[in-house]
Amino acid sequence: MKIGLFGGTFDPVHIGHLRAAEEIRESFLLDRVYFIPAYIPPHKRRQGITDADIRLRMIKSAIRGNPYLRASEIELKREGVSYSIDTVRAFEKRFKTLYFIIGIDAFSEIDTWHDYREIFHHTNFIIMIRPSNGKTFIKDIFPEDLKVKMKKMGNFSFQHVSGNKIYLHRVTQLDISSTGIRENVKSGKTTRYIVPKTVEKIISEKGLYRV
Ligand code: ATP
Ligand code: MG
Repeated sequence: MKIGLFGGTFDPVHIGHLRAAEEIRESFLLDRVYFIPAYIPPHKRRQGITDADIRLRMIKSAIRGNPYLRASEIELKREGVSYSIDTVRAFEKRFKTLYFIIGIDAFSEIDTWHDYREIFHHTNFIIMIRPSNGKTFIKDIFPEDLKVKMKKMGNFSFQHVSGNKIYLHRVTQLDISSTGIRENVKSGKTTRYIVPKTVEKIISEKGLYRV
């Protein structure tokens, strides 16, 4: 089984996340993509992140009906600060081939992650990039100490010394962020067509993001 791991805060999940997961699942012929909400995201020091169980409920409601998309409670069950290395190690016990799905914005900070060098030994990566016609270079993508561990394969792919691959992949660019959605709600604007109806419903029922 080829499994995609899509981690994030998902506060809330939106159609940018959903469309990206769907396109990657199709392009890489993945059997499943797991949305994995962080319990405590190490990189978001923002106050007032929505309760993990509500973020999970929003994800579950958003992916309902798509047999390829799943929600994983692994980081919520583990509690504490959610480190990707722990999650990858746990999935590795269940599935043979893993693809860690991540936006280039998040990937560009990977050298601040807990045990980040180790992650590359346990999973492939799919990095979602913005449209680009040009070539991509190791020097532009990886932090200094990882460069020497990477070999270029094609214009949009690299191989780590472990044998794991790193693919750069274009997904449809939807200029949508959870931050923008929270700001919309706060200023009284709608979130129609930006999040699924079921997510809209949870946001209004729970009164999320109003303050
Ligand atoms: P925030 O504004 O709070 O940072 P976000 O919309 O960026 O929220 P996250 O939960 O931070 O959502 O992101 C989870 C993952 O989804 C990250 O890898 C991020 O790069 C990616 N991502 C975020 N927005 C989009 C989008 N519009 N299209 C594709 N991927 C996205
Ligand atoms: Mg983000």
